[in-house]
Amino acid sequence: MDFGNKLGFKTFNDEVGNVFILKPGSKGFENRPKVILQGHIDMVHQKNADVEFDFATQGIDMIVEGDWVRANGTTLGSDNGIGVAMIMALLSSTDLDHPPLEALFTIDEETGMTGALGLKGGVLEGRIMINLDTEDDDEITIGCAGGIDVTAFKTPEMESTPAGTKTFKISVNGLKYF
Ligand SMILES: [Zn+2]
Repeated sequence: MDFGNKLGFKTFNDEVGNVFILKPGSKGFENRPKVILQGHIDMVHQKNADVEFDFATQGIDMIVEGDWVRANGTTLGSDNGIGVAMIMALLSSTDLDHPPLEALFTIDEETGMTGALGLKGGVLEGRIMINLDTEDDDEITIGCAGGIDVTAFKTPEMESTPAGTKTFKISVNGLKYF
């Protein structure tokens, strides 16, 4: 919200918390069809077991190694920070030709898509949408990926352990996140 307001563009949010920033088309492109650019502003927040970190109060400790940016012992938030950053770069640019842009920053993609689901019709006018939440930097996704939550139940058929066999309990934990 601060970013859009500081740039002087119409900036608002809806009841669920999605953020909208509307940027007019550049000179000569004012009447081109509006394009919606979408990314999500929540991230997966996980840390390595041996790292003290509070996502509620601390900023990500980023490390730049050559062409790569990574985080020190936590997830980086590049899903979808990279898409959000691309949209912010377009919003703040003064030397790119572009149609009117409707930036849509949705919330809560990772744990239920309540931002996308709560988006009301009629808030945005664009008929073209580019989704910037993708793993591939050389592809453009038009429209948006969907998602579905599935809860499945199955009753296992139990059988007794044959005589003379050993049983083991296997657990996997403390995995590192990169
Ligand atoms: Zn994502």
